[in-house]
Amino acid sequence: MPSPSSIHAPYVSVAVFAPLETPLDYIRPPELLLSPGDLVLVPLGRSQVHGLVTSLHDKPPNFSGLKSVLEKLDKPTLSSENLSFLLWAAQWTMSPPGSFAEMGFSGAMGPRPKPTTTYRLKAEPHAQLAFSQAQKRVFEALSQGGLGLTRLCEKAKTSASVINLMHEKGLLERCETAQVLGLGTPDPNFHPATLNEHQQAAFNLIDHALSQAPLRPVLLDGVTGSGKTEVYFELIAKALKDSATGQILVLLPEIALTQALEDRIEKRFGSKPALWHSQIKPGKRRLLWEGIENADIRLIIGARSALFLPFSQLKMIIIDEEHDGSYKQDDGIRYQARDLGLYRAQIAGCPIILASATPSLETYVHARSGKYHWVRISHRHANMPLPKIGMIDLKAHAPAKDRFLTDVLVGAMTETLAQGEQVLLYLNRRGYAPLVLCKACGERLGAPGTDSWLVEHKSTGRLVCHLTGFSMKKPSQCPHCQAKDSLLSVGPGVERIFEEVREIFPEKNCAIFSSDTTPTPTATEALVARITSKDVDIVIATQAAAKGHNFPHLTLVGVVDADLGLKGTDVRAAERTFQLLAQVSGRAGRSQKPGRALLQAYSPDHPVMQALQVFDRDAFLEQESVMRQAIGFPPFGRLGGLILSSPNQSDLIRFARQLAAHIPSSEGFDVYGPAEAPLAVLRKQHRQRFLIRGNRNRDLQGFIRHWLGLVKKPAAIKITIDIEPYNFT
Ligand code: ADP
Repeated sequence: MPSPSSIHAPYVSVAVFAPLETPLDYIRPPELLLSPGDLVLVPLGRSQVHGLVTSLHDKPPNFSGLKSVLEKLDKPTLSSENLSFLLWAAQWTMSPPGSFAEMGFSGAMGPRPKPTTTYRLKAEPHAQLAFSQAQKRVFEALSQGGLGLTRLCEKAKTSASVINLMHEKGLLERCETAQVLGLGTPDPNFHPATLNEHQQAAFNLIDHALSQAPLRPVLLDGVTGSGKTEVYFELIAKALKDSATGQILVLLPEIALTQALEDRIEKRFGSKPALWHSQIKPGKRRLLWEGIENADIRLIIGARSALFLPFSQLKMIIIDEEHDGSYKQDDGIRYQARDLGLYRAQIAGCPIILASATPSLETYVHARSGKYHWVRISHRHANMPLPKIGMIDLKAHAPAKDRFLTDVLVGAMTETLAQGEQVLLYLNRRGYAPLVLCKACGERLGAPGTDSWLVEHKSTGRLVCHLTGFSMKKPSQCPHCQAKDSLLSVGPGVERIFEEVREIFPEKNCAIFSSDTTPTPTATEALVARITSKDVDIVIATQAAAKGHNFPHLTLVGVVDADLGLKGTDVRAAERTFQLLAQVSGRAGRSQKPGRALLQAYSPDHPVMQALQVFDRDAFLEQESVMRQAIGFPPFGRLGGLILSSPNQSDLIRFARQLAAHIPSSEGFDVYGPAEAPLAVLRKQHRQRFLIRGNRNRDLQGFIRHWLGLVKKPAAIKITIDIEPYNFT
């Protein structure tokens, strides 16, 4: 709580909702009582913007033209815990504090949902014979209770005008009811799982670890299908029992996974959790935000932005699939939700559980060193064996011309399908072909103003840039040399594999599982239900289906191009390939029948492929760890990326050289660059990059801040800072 003297202090600092590096100072009008955490309206230039009060102070700032706060908004004051988290996150990621403040209040700003209107019978209809057929159907439809207009029209097979007329005549009553979330309270005793001995041992170890001080993060490290989810459900149940008002946050890497977990939670705890992600509508967001702020909502599952909700009683954070690269947000504000989650738990003084079958190297190294508790489950539930992983050497078994599936894989698919089981083919490429080329002039069709190729999507007949969203109808002639019918689709995407599979297995049902076919959680749920009920025999999937899902009839996973991910330039390429292939293989054989995975690869001897085949994850991580330690890369050192961009290439290069000339000499830091970014032009902006490597114990952010302070940046040049970058393009 701020002291009364600070409440009456004459000046306030406000993190305005604008991309400014620091909070701005304002005068507090004497009649306006303000506290840190309040939402206010302030003048900025010629406009008025919202902002979050970060502090109050007595000393007049060194600036004479100070303006006054205009008004305090009627919103709850953020608790000091939530406020300090937002400010810390801004500092850590070197992002504008106002951007985090805006995220923290995003749910509070939307409108409340409109009340719903329902119609009821006003009185028992007398002398029904005098009514029209439509009116009689309305009486019938309402005989079981009130209905909304749309539902009533549907049920009574009539129009809104009939209903309105009946209302005017006093036959029906119209009631306005405020919308509520209706989530209910999770009941820890509703349907407890009977944990198997391995799960019970893991639960006991974690429970004991959480009773020890100081509290350390826990890595729940269990093979795919070992029941990590069941274990953390029991930990949630315990936390709910221990605190009558406590709140629990479960973070998931993909929105697509929220629906399946929601159903499991409802079965275990007897009520639905709150879901939080970018596709939730504003009215509902508002109710959720308020319910979380006043601790009415106890169990929340969400994507990374759920971390910025205004929890008032946070008692546990679970980060499921903690290794997943989707926790790193790469555009807009760049942050790694797992890493921020660790700090969020620390300031709440609550436990944090990181769950994975393929932990990130960061987490693995911390678990190995004892910084985190390390709890392992090495058996699948019901002792189902882990899938056997086999390699198909693409050099020895080349697919036929214009085909991408080898005879070996097709043979295995035939066997599996003959048993009445399902197959999943994995290729992490959306669309039909990743490149369209003119065979007359060699032109590769690219996105305008961006250094990337257009991806062909046959289902829509369009060429799409996955980076910028640009799309165009596929032309019938080359836009460069105008040659007719000369455009060649190069390489496969999931749509092309779908086409191939349909030709080989014309009588089987196939479906594509990618972000294009499952754009919403509802669409994902519908497709997952089709797969689960065996309405689909062969699933062709990108990474949208690789993680988290349980497909009980799936026994064969075929990876079309296992080397694909290794071709990237980034330091985590091998780690990420291992994780993804282990995860996707782990979809096979999760229920009654054992599963197998076949990986088509040009380099079956690569350490990643070898480690997968014998499933020696730790040996692989050890090897990665030696390599990273040797070069001082994360988790043994720290990285920062600097991306400079400008519409004018020569101005950009000049500024990059100027920055390079001012690199501070400071022990424990190396700066690489400037270099033209691999993605040299994006949305007509030329791009140059620096990479800063710092020793683990050094203040990387301080170094960057000091360096950037030495050179004046021209207004037309933009600098984006990426702390612990994952993306090096
Ligand atoms: P993980 O999270 O480790 O991948 P899950 O918790 O999803 O594993 O478990 C895999 C499957 O096994 C799920 O269908 C789950 O319901 C089932 N399962 C796991 N443990 C148990 C248990 N103790 N009792 C009943 N079913 C279980």
